Amino acid sequence: MISNTAVGTGSRLINLKCPACGAEYDASVPNTFCKTDGCNSTLFAQYDLGQPLEKAILKDRPTSMWRYRELLPVIGEENIVTMGEGFTPIIPIENLKQFTLGNDVYWKNEAGNPTGSFKARGIGMAVSKAKELGIETIATPTAGNAGGALAAYAARAGIKAVVYMPKLTPQVFKDECRLYGAELVEVDGNIADCGKLVADGAAEHGWFQISTLKEPYRLEGKKTMGFEIAEQFNWQLPDVVFYPTGGGTGLIGIWKAFDELEQLGWIGSKRPRMVAVQSESCNGIVTAFDGGQSSAEFVDGGFTIANGLRVPKSFADKVILKVLRDSKGTALSISDAEMNAAVKEIARNEGMLIAPEGAALWQAYKKLKASGWIQPGESVVLVNTGSGYKYLENITI
Ligand SMILES: *Cc1c(COP(=O)(O)O)cnc(C)c1O
Ligand SMILES: [Zn+2]
Repeated sequence: MISNTAVGTGSRLINLKCPACGAEYDASVPNTFCKTDGCNSTLFAQYDLGQPLEKAILKDRPTSMWRYRELLPVIGEENIVTMGEGFTPIIPIENLKQFTLGNDVYWKNEAGNPTGSFKARGIGMAVSKAKELGIETIATPTAGNAGGALAAYAARAGIKAVVYMPKLTPQVFKDECRLYGAELVEVDGNIADCGKLVADGAAEHGWFQISTLKEPYRLEGKKTMGFEIAEQFNWQLPDVVFYPTGGGTGLIGIWKAFDELEQLGWIGSKRPRMVAVQSESCNGIVTAFDGGQSSAEFVDGGFTIANGLRVPKSFADKVILKVLRDSKGTALSISDAEMNAAVKEIARNEGMLIAPEGAALWQAYKKLKASGWIQPGESVVLVNTGSGYKYLENITI
């Protein structure tokens, strides 16, 4: 194990642990997922949260996700690859009050992150940790935003990036990868097909793969959204959090963050109800949740304007479903037409051009408000995961 007292961040990282079988892994070497007897679970970074840590440390910290560095996995400060990702604003619904009467509804707006999405958090963390571990080439399958983020962070870190993306992704997602100097492979298929090709390439060329939740540190970047929600709500968590769920990294990460904050004594045991929102095109989590199942089927209904949600099966489906149930949350799917309408409704009334993935949350919120699932007085956070500017090719104005 790398000594935490050496130089640097003060990271309290201990090791990686499998939430399914309990196996532990040395975090000072590269890891992927749990390789114990066909377990195949995502691994979770574990931290020493027993020694006290005062909230006052945050006072002079940067306004980025790195303000929580004790609870992040990078040990040497020189390995942090940053462009100011994270600490994104909380923005209340200002004009569409006819839908929010009796509730406080806020966007956690991720659109201003480098490369225009919250993927900057997960990829920024994974690239930083890869740099620390001496990795030279990183490969990933992507539905769009992860590829652009990887290309950018790899460029900054001096690491080579290889990106596999479905051909049906809007052009801007491809152009940005090439502009940042990544090798881009366009695939006639979905992200699952891209994932297989990345695995083959990795076996052949020795690339390090950072597929969603098959690499442990993207989760650590995305969990910082949970730290921020807690801090920005003055350590009183909101009642409901809506999350557009593809691979589910952010949903799992936010939940993990709350757990860590409770162990530190920074928050109590109250948790929000977590709502997973999917595209009707890929709604395996919704179907499994409604059917009472503990794992999801492979579902791919083809093209959706929310390319970040075209994930036929999450590698961590069981963990997502458990979070939804533990939190007393729910799951629902939204059509492309509804997302398109919501992009326009939010743009012209709220002045924000949000991603279709974020727009799906607005429709889901309105449905759960109308059905009474959201009660008067409850506070609600909608995580707008990306900028709408990258999706204009597929938005009908
Ligand atoms: C990747 C992506 C998602 C899905 O994120 P997960 O954490 O993998 O579920 C949602 N929205 C946008 C804009 C994305 O790029
Ligand atoms: Zn395991």
